[in-house]
Amino acid sequence: MNNKISRITKRYSEDPARLLDVLHDIHSLKGYVDDDDVEQLAIELVLSEATINEVISFYHFFSKTPVGKFSIYLNNSITACFRGREAVKRALEESCGTTFGSVSEDGLFGLFDTSCIGMNDQEPAAIINGLVFTKLTAFRVKELVKGLKEGKPVSELIYEGTGGGNNADKDIQSMVQNNIRKGMLLLNRDYHKFEVLRKELKQHSPLEVIQIVEDSNLRGRGGAGFPTGIKWRFGRRVDGKHRVIICNADEGEPGTFKDRVMLTEFPELVFEGMVIAAYATAADIGLLYLRYEYKYLLRFLNRILGEMRTEGLLGKNAAGIKDFNFDIRIQLGAGAYICGEESALIESLEGKRGEPRDKPPFPVEKGYLNYPTIVNNVETLASAVKIIKHGAAWYKGFGVKDSLGTKLLSVSGDCRFPGIYEVEWGTSIREVIEMCGAEDVQAIQVGGPSGVLIGLKDIDNLGASNLMKWYKPSGMMVAQKFYDRKLSYSDLPTGGSIIIFDKRRDLLQDVVMNFMDFFIEESCGSCSTCRNLPSVMKQKLQKIIGGHGVRQDIDDLLSWGKMIKVSRCGLGQTAANPIVSSILNFRDLYEGHVQAMTDFDNEFDLEKSVQAANNFVGRKSVFHQN
Ligand code: SF4
Repeated sequence: MNNKISRITKRYSEDPARLLDVLHDIHSLKGYVDDDDVEQLAIELVLSEATINEVISFYHFFSKTPVGKFSIYLNNSITACFRGREAVKRALEESCGTTFGSVSEDGLFGLFDTSCIGMNDQEPAAIINGLVFTKLTAFRVKELVKGLKEGKPVSELIYEGTGGGNNADKDIQSMVQNNIRKGMLLLNRDYHKFEVLRKELKQHSPLEVIQIVEDSNLRGRGGAGFPTGIKWRFGRRVDGKHRVIICNADEGEPGTFKDRVMLTEFPELVFEGMVIAAYATAADIGLLYLRYEYKYLLRFLNRILGEMRTEGLLGKNAAGIKDFNFDIRIQLGAGAYICGEESALIESLEGKRGEPRDKPPFPVEKGYLNYPTIVNNVETLASAVKIIKHGAAWYKGFGVKDSLGTKLLSVSGDCRFPGIYEVEWGTSIREVIEMCGAEDVQAIQVGGPSGVLIGLKDIDNLGASNLMKWYKPSGMMVAQKFYDRKLSYSDLPTGGSIIIFDKRRDLLQDVVMNFMDFFIEESCGSCSTCRNLPSVMKQKLQKIIGGHGVRQDIDDLLSWGKMIKVSRCGLGQTAANPIVSSILNFRDLYEGHVQAMTDFDNEFDLEKSVQAANNFVGRKSVFHQN
């Protein structure tokens, strides 16, 4: 038995639900987890070796083989590609002496691709031994690798100094920039830390807190928009030995980085929201699931939790409220987009592969370790604090009818001012474009790859006389008025990712292909539709782009886009969106590639086409006519 591994499992009380933590610690110790480690873990955690191996293989940042003394994960988001990722990749390969997907012979460098790491406003970006490096260039890569070869610590190679705000905190020390461009209710420096916990909360009963949140019509900010107050009321009603509040900070949608900024600059607001939710629902367990890509924030966030315990805001009689016992633990993810789905996230929190559960039962009835569990998004919990502080009526003064309050947008792509914008719901896409200084816009991806790709017809409100050609899904061309699309649950719902593409970009070859690769990579593989259709659709798209497609291929893509909706979770259900929404909004691009015929070539003469070959070998082919 390896004593170091035993010490690690004991650190987590040999609890199999803490398998992710155990694997992270083994990685920190030796860089990977080998067969001997798995064998020992199986005994000490009372799990099968197959189960442990399945978990290791599921997550991007776990490995059964060495990943190099310096493991470099270069993200492949579309914005990184447009900002020079290819040159950075070449420079890494040349300097490190190895290719992507492998480790250099001297074991020094491992180079790996990874999905968006939440740095779309400062691309190209990479993670080196858990630290984030942004705005990479070929020159910077060479300097970085030179420094690593000279034995300098990774943390000393930050070339631009620490970023603004708390990025310079002693427990973060990161070069990441916040890029807060516009704040309103949440991104507001007037926030007094924990004021609600110290003063307002004890003035309300738990049911009054739920009522205030219900009256405010706060809806979940993760995308689905379920009313938060109703979720809390359901959760409170379900019996359970324990109740659990989970803060989902696993923002993995490419182009999203708002949680990164919230947790860097306003972590107290998020934790305060968790305590309020726990008080309202009588929860005693709090878990914040932090995506691995934000590991550089972990020490800082744990320090704040420690300060909250010291001040009596967590723990026994939390916030000075008798018999309210609640504490928060941070669980670090290990790299898997699907863990943003609430039931997959719960599986991951239990130390398993992050595969979505069948519903019902919903987490609110049977969630983490089968306890009633309420999963809320970072932004939702932060909004709850402001609502308790200022009241439901105040909150309803922001936004539009079905979408009240504000929304944090992560804006990136082709614009002068990428960053975080807090806007009222009901803000038009045109206003967003003007705010971020985008010009010559061709398309806007709203809600990340799982959202929609919209074009100019959706942002140019030039009056009733302006008509443009527009295609129905059938391919029939109709005239339609221009109008301004607005961010709201009824028009353009969004988790917050907005990526802008100007007219230089090849939407099909570059953008849609990149998004399809993302879904192919991130599918957990449980459903045959989600496992297979994105690949088949990508092949069909390739065929069309290559000039070998016919009109029928476009219709096939639309019909397969419907078929994939039967998939178990949102990932599969939206995996065809990049292709479907680009066909619906940019059908011209597809039409420009396909051949004039509608179906395969009926005039093709097989007998004639093989005649030369038959003559050469001296044989005669026989063709049967139906
Ligand atoms: Fe997994 Fe995709 Fe099915 Fe979701 S839809 S459960 S990601 S295979």
